[in-house]
Order: sequence, then structure tokens, then C-alpha cells
Amino acid sequence: MANSPMLAEGLTKHYGDVKALCELDLEVSAGEIFGFLGPNGAGKTTMIRTILDEIRPTAGRSTILGLKSHEDSVEIRRHIGYLPSDITLYPALTGRDTLTFFANLRGGVDWSIVDDLAERLNADLSKKVGNLSSGNRQKVGLIQALMNEPELLIMDEPSTGLDPLVQSEFHRILQEIAAEGRTVFLSSHTLSEVQLVANRVGIIRHGRLVALESLEELRSKAMRKIDLTFSAPVDAASLEQISGVRDVSISGDKATLSFEGKMVELLESLAGRHDVVDIGTREADLDEIFLTYYRDDETDK
Ligand code: ATP
Repeated sequence: MANSPMLAEGLTKHYGDVKALCELDLEVSAGEIFGFLGPNGAGKTTMIRTILDEIRPTAGRSTILGLKSHEDSVEIRRHIGYLPSDITLYPALTGRDTLTFFANLRGGVDWSIVDDLAERLNADLSKKVGNLSSGNRQKVGLIQALMNEPELLIMDEPSTGLDPLVQSEFHRILQEIAAEGRTVFLSSHTLSEVQLVANRVGIIRHGRLVALESLEELRSKAMRKIDLTFSAPVDAASLEQISGVRDVSISGDKATLSFEGKMVELLESLAGRHDVVDIGTREADLDEIFLTYYRDDETDK
């Protein structure tokens, strides 16, 4: 079997008392767009920097394309494209000079690929990087990561500052890469972005992977939003008693609530208590799903 593009086993990184990464197990498959999700401080950048040997793990192992993160770090760089979250570019160099610099580090580049990417992302490579807006500077960073047609693309918050049109062109590029059997690892705190492009999602919270699923699986587990109409006004407390029910809001004889569990159980509980005249249900969107993983944040710190 071909080597996994990215594999982490028990990967752990502590900064003193701060457990930035805790025994993280993760395997990314060839040809997938993997969305690595979590809010600021969850450990996304630590994971990427550890697996790329920019920082050393406290414990655990990792490989990229079958190569060991630490021992084979130079070889790994030949096969990947990487956009760090805080890419440093020389302000006095133009975009083209910047890309020439990165290309020389990697032993050259096919400029027709660079020109094509610049056109698609609407990047002006003639201006000095220091004079560019942050979004236009980000485009130079994206081209830098994409221009060598890497087998594995690792991007830390790549869409920062991109306008919606450029962002959707960037997503098309990622989808083309995956269609060619190459692999994309996309770190983001933006669910809407991951929802658009990723096949599979890992959610990280306090350095731990709390969910690892396809988008479909994630959605099927989601809480549902339920709209109810009763024959007479009801009080919130009687609905909040039902197992799996939360976020109840009442307006006269109507109620809206979130429900996690088996629908049949909700219907049975409702039927025993109230006269329901109408019921509507809808799937929670990814933002709501995400919140279910983070809801208890305040209590378990
Ligand atoms: P962001 O989206 O803000 O970049 P992140 O998910 O990438 O967030 P990390 O940057 O990996 O999160 O940080 C994870 C945790 O580790 C945070 O609590 C952070 O404060 C801590 N941390 C990161 N780097 C260091 C460091 N050099 N020294 C001490 N603590 C650190």
C-alpha cells in the first residue's frame, strides 16, 4: 500500500503546563481534502509545525509521505507545499522576485504554472510585497505553496484576507489538486470554508482530536432544530425536562428547540405531555455542529 500522506501517532506537545497537543492520532489519505478545524489556540498550528519538524514533539511519532518528520525533514520539503499561518516575506522584493527566491531554494520552478496561478488568483507579481494589502500578499504565499505541484499541500489558514471571488477560485484549485490524487491538509477556524471543500474533517479542541469524520457523518450526528406548534401555550421548563432537548425558546403556542437523540423518543415524550398540532425539523448547519463540540468549554477548562 502506498505511504499515507500524513500520519501522526500519539503526537504530543507541551509548553510547560500548556498542553498544546495531546496524544493526537491522525491519518490523512491520498487524494482527500482534509479540513483541520478548531478555534484560535486549539492547537492547529502546533500540530502542523510539529509534524513538519519546526518544533520537536514532547512525545509521539509522525511521518509525511512515509518519511519521518525529523530524520527526513529535508527530503519531505521536496515533496510538499506549505503555507504557514505567519508567512514572512521580504517587503522590498516584488512578488515575482519572492517566488524566484522560493523557487531557487527548491531547485527551480515551471514559470508557466506560476503565471497560470497568478492569473487565476488575480495576483499582481510586479509590485513590492511590502506595498501589497494583506490579502494580495497572501496570494503570493499561496502561489509559493502551490507552484511546485506538491504531492501534499499543507496550508494553515490559507484564506485569510482573500475576497470571496479569489477564495472560490482557490477552492477550485484545491479540488483540482485532489482530483489528480494529490492531498490537501487545510487548517481553518472557518467552518463555512471547510464545508465547501473538505471531504473529511478533524475537529481539535484543547489539543485533542474530538471528532474525525466525513462531512456526511458529521451532519448526520448533528443536533436537529425543531419547530413545534401546540394547541395551547406551553412553558419552557416542561420541554427542557426532555432528555436531549436544549436551547428552548417559546413564543405563545410555538416553541423552537435543539434536539440530539432519537426522534421517536422526542415524539413519545412530547405526546405524553402536550397536544402537538404541527412539527417541523431541520438539520443544524456545521456552525451549530461545531458548537456542540465546544459547548462545554467553560466547564472543563
Ligand atoms: P490559531 O488559530 O490562533 O493559530 P491554533 O489552533 O493554531 O490557534 P496553536 O497556535 O497551536 O493554536 O496554540 C495552541 C496552544 O499552545 C495555545 O494555548 C497557545 O497559547 C500555546 N502555545 C503555542 N505556542 C507556544 C509557545 N511557543 N509557548 C507557549 N505556549 C504556546
